[in-house]
Amino acid sequence: MKTYLRIAIQKSGRLQEGSIDLLKESGLTISNGRGQLKTQALNFPVEILFLRDDDIPQYIEDRVADIGIVGENIFVEKNKNTTLIKRLDFAKCRLSIAVPKSLDYHGLSSLQGKNIATSYPVIVRKYLKANNIEAGIHEISGSVEIAPGIGLADAICDIVSTGSTLLSNGLKEVEIVMQSEAIMIGGAELTQEKQEILDRLLFRLEAVNSAKNNKYILLNCPNDAIEKITSVIPGMKSPTIMPLSKKNWSSLHSVVNENDFWEKIDQLKSFGAEGILVIPIEKMIQ
Ligand code: ATP
Ligand code: MG
Repeated sequence: MKTYLRIAIQKSGRLQEGSIDLLKESGLTISNGRGQLKTQALNFPVEILFLRDDDIPQYIEDRVADIGIVGENIFVEKNKNTTLIKRLDFAKCRLSIAVPKSLDYHGLSSLQGKNIATSYPVIVRKYLKANNIEAGIHEISGSVEIAPGIGLADAICDIVSTGSTLLSNGLKEVEIVMQSEAIMIGGAELTQEKQEILDRLLFRLEAVNSAKNNKYILLNCPNDAIEKITSVIPGMKSPTIMPLSKKNWSSLHSVVNENDFWEKIDQLKSFGAEGILVIPIEKMIQ
């Protein structure tokens, strides 16, 4: 019987699109008929299970799924027998404590003896304990941000990305409890066949993510600037240099990282680079 690696992803919600996109960019053809619970990639030995994100760590612990994609917040909260395999660089958010705007907040001690509504009781309890605060925890599964307004709690701890939901509910963010992003998690040791499939998938994910973080750069420069420019954008091994028909000038091709992109462009210009073109890279294999 053919071996498949079973991947659990969110059925619908904030992680679903990013998870499917990542698998598709890794070259997997997935027929995702709406409402389906399970599907197979047509050209890669994986089976995809569509589940509620909260349930994914348990399914992995129970070995129903081999790996899964969840928010780090869920990974920490559920605290199952799972391990972090890879950070996936999307669905970035934070888990924060927020209080009514009108509350005169002066540090965590303001929460002493208060009631906090959250869907993350494990994380919040641990955080309060580490900070020596005693507060009540009121666990609710959704619409946490309305809890103070309806008198259910004095404060909340919930996912924040821009803060606009908090604002429209008359709340202000006062403490960041943890940062989160989508991560790939796994469970017990895989069979050799499954591990090989996972390694192939991870290799592809790496190529997709490094491509996203890098750009292909082409520029023209006087020959006497080549050395300086190469030290700024060394590329994967070294830049490609091609002579221009204009005497003593070259075209230089390399790769530049997204993070310090603008800083490097400024340096290149100061070294005499001209006609700089920057092009997205689809896949990058180191
Ligand atoms: P499910 O029905 O699967 O239980 P859910 O309602 O619990 O879904 P979502 O709101 O879809 O969960 O969020 C899933 C995950 O996406 C969260 O656990 C968090 O890691 C991340 N996330 C949530 N909100 C945001 C946001 N505004 N920006 C970025 N990431 C977010
Ligand atoms: Mg959920």
